[in-house]
Parts: sequence; C-alpha cells; structure tokens
Amino acid sequence: MSKIQMTTPLVEMDGDEMTRILWQWIKDELILPFVDLKTEYYDLGLEYREKTGDQVTKDSAYAALKYGVAVKCATITPNAARVKEYGLSQMWKSPNGTIRAIMDGTVFRAPILVRGVEPYVKNWKKPITIARHAYGDVYRNTEMSVPAGSRAELVVTAPDGTEKRALIHDFAGDGIVQGMHNLDASIESFARSCFRFALEKKEDLWFSSKDTISKIYDHHFKDIFQQIYDEEFAEAFKEAGITYFYTLIDDAVARVVKSDGGMIWACKNYDGDVMSDMIATAFGSLAMMTSVLVNPDGKFEYEAAHGTVQRHYYRYRDGEETSTNSVATIFAWSGALRKRGELDGLADLCAFADRLEAATLAVIESGVMTRDLYLISTLPEKRTVNSLEFIRAIRRELERSAS
Ligand code: NAP
Ligand code: MG
Repeated sequence: MSKIQMTTPLVEMDGDEMTRILWQWIKDELILPFVDLKTEYYDLGLEYREKTGDQVTKDSAYAALKYGVAVKCATITPNAARVKEYGLSQMWKSPNGTIRAIMDGTVFRAPILVRGVEPYVKNWKKPITIARHAYGDVYRNTEMSVPAGSRAELVVTAPDGTEKRALIHDFAGDGIVQGMHNLDASIESFARSCFRFALEKKEDLWFSSKDTISKIYDHHFKDIFQQIYDEEFAEAFKEAGITYFYTLIDDAVARVVKSDGGMIWACKNYDGDVMSDMIATAFGSLAMMTSVLVNPDGKFEYEAAHGTVQRHYYRYRDGEETSTNSVATIFAWSGALRKRGELDGLADLCAFADRLEAATLAVIESGVMTRDLYLISTLPEKRTVNSLEFIRAIRRELERSAS
C-alpha cells in the first residue's frame, strides 16, 4: 500500500510526560504507516525549553503562523515544584500562553462524542463548542481592600492630561474595590476568530454577556460583535445557512441546557473559564475534549484540552502499566492533518483523517477502551486495555478499514 503524500509540513510541537509517550506511539502506530508525514518539529518538552531559554516555544508559534497548521502535545506549565524537579533557571511561562500571544487566537473546545459515554444532559446529541475570550477582564484586574470612610473613584487620564472621574462608591463600612479593562483590538480579533470558526464548522454562533447590567463594558463587546458580523460575515453566514445571535448569559445557559447541541458558544473570559469546565464535565470526560486555537487570519493549532497526565507518567516511568486515554491527542492529529489536506487540496489526506477518527470511535464502541472511559461507559460489554494496546487496536481497525 502506498503512503498518502503531503505537500506542506505540519508544525509539530512535542510536549511532556505521559502525553509525550502517547505522542510517539500515535505517530509510530497510527500516522507513519499510512502517511508520508512531513512535519517541522519543535520540541516543547520542558528540558529543551530550558535549554533554549524558551526560544523554541516562540519559534514554534512563528512557524505555525508561517505554515498555517500546527499540532501540539500537552506541555508542563512550570510551578515551584517543577522548577525544582527539572532544575529550571526560571519559571518559564505557559507555552500555550506564549503561543496564543504570538498567534493572537481564540481557543475553541469541543467534546468528542462516542456511543456508551452519555452526556449528563440527556438531550445533548451534538457537541457544544466553547470559545473563550482569553484576554483581560478579571484576569488582568487591579483590586484593593478599602477601609471604612474611603471614597473610591474611577480616574482615566487622557493623552492631553485631562481627567475623567466617576464615583464608584463612598464606603461607610470596610469593603473591596476592583478595576478591569479590555481592548477593542482584542475583542475584534476574538469576534473574527469566532465568525471564521463558525463558518468553518458550519455551526451557529452564539455570543453572550451581561449587557443589561454592564451597559458600557459588556455592551461594547456586543456592539463590536454585531458590527463585525454585519460588515464582514452576514452574507457568508446566510450562504452557509448558519446564524449568529446574541443573548444574555443567563438566557444562554438556559437555552444551551435545553438544546440538542451543535453550536459554538462564544463567552467572555470568565464565563468561558467556567462554562468550558461545565460543558466538559457534562459531556462525560476531560480526556475526550479537543482544543483548537484559531487566529483571526485563519491559522490553526490543534491539541488535546487535558494536561500531561503527570500521575500516569510517574507510573509509566516506574515500569507500571498505564491506561491513559489518547483519543483527544489522536483527534488533534486528525484535525491538523485534515486542515492541512483542505488547505493543500489533498483529498486523500482529509479522507485519512476521517478514517482515523472513525477507527478510534469504532474501537471504543466495540467495547475496547482505556480505564477512564471504562468507568463511565454504559456499554454492556466492555474491557479496559493499557495505553499501547488501545492505540494498537485502533491501528488494526485502520488497517481493516483500508483493505
Ligand atoms: P491533567 O494532565 O489533565 O490530568 C489530571 C487528571 O485527569 C489525571 O491525573 C487523570 O486522572 C485525568 N486525565 C486527564 N487526562 C487524561 C487522559 N488522557 N487519560 C486518562 N486520564 C486523564 O492535569 P494535571 O495533572 O493537573 O496537570 C499535569 C500537567 O499538565 C501540569 O504540569 C500542567 O501544567 C499541564 N497542563 C498542560 C496543558 C496543556 O498543555 N494544554 C493543559 C492542562 C495542564 P487520574 O490520575 O485519576 O487517572
Ligand atoms: Mg478553568
């Protein structure tokens, strides 16, 4: 059997711990036997980040901008314990944060649905994708404790030195105060990423905030979305047969729960933080969440939503068996290969991505799964396999479907 050809390389961002082990197995068993894989490889494993002063992370993000499609393995975000464990010269920033800052994208998270893993919300039949605005608001706030008798004011100094003041509160008793901001440029790029991704997925886009209470701040988000929609996307949405609509966050929550899914739900930073955990949990498993960073010009970085599965890695390193779920990482690869295929007009590559996903789901639906899924699967006949056995079962299914 001849291998599927590629024309443009994928940007490959390798990572850490258990997911790094899965990464190699996925390539060896599920990609390399079938695809004449072209990648530009960047090692974002913590040791190499340390060695390059984290330059490798920046280089990989610029490569993603250059080639347009990247696939990323989960990586360690160092904390004090990691600085000690790896003897780091400094507490390097989160690679995802660095990549997002360079690519200027929005992260879209969606669950992978499979028979036997039932959403807690019975009527959800299709994935719900959360788009979280990843800049500003309470994540870049300034806050203070305020003693009784204080007056808190909002002061903005214009370039010409003139001051604009607004009273926040005259404090009779002790209290607290908080200031936060956002930027038009960031909201605009968030909006464009959302509209583009909705067109790409051919799914409706919802955007929610609390503009009835926050009449300037949240209302500004709403206005920017509406303006960009009207000026740049309304026609394309009509052609694609999808809709954009704005609603209050509390109304959105109620509607989402009653829906059958299948929409993209754009959220402000805090709302997206909360709602993405709610959606992931309600669909059944964090190990089944995919994640893609889409920038406003349509460049893509695919990954799994979960981390490096540290506890499993320590067991693996001690020679113990692990049963780690590789599905979200496999779907990161299939997502990236399909996107590469679409951009380069390689129908075979797109078809392979479809087959890889179908084979993965077929294995789980046949009752063969990793332990995390075994614990929640409602299939009457099921068994758990180890990390590598699971990947090999998918390979057999792929070979069967190819012949
Ligand atoms: P995690 O790697 O997502 O794992 C948390 C727990 O969830 C695991 O211990 C495991 O539970 C379960 N789990 C997650 N993914 C699984 C999978 N594929 N298969 C089976 N079980 C899975 O989060 P963490 O342990 O908090 O973080 C570990 C490292 O990942 C940290 O250094 C963090 O910085 C990094 N991280 C990276 C990213 C990223 O690169 N995008 C995202 C999040 C975290 P059991 O142990 O109970 O089986
Ligand atoms: Mg969170």
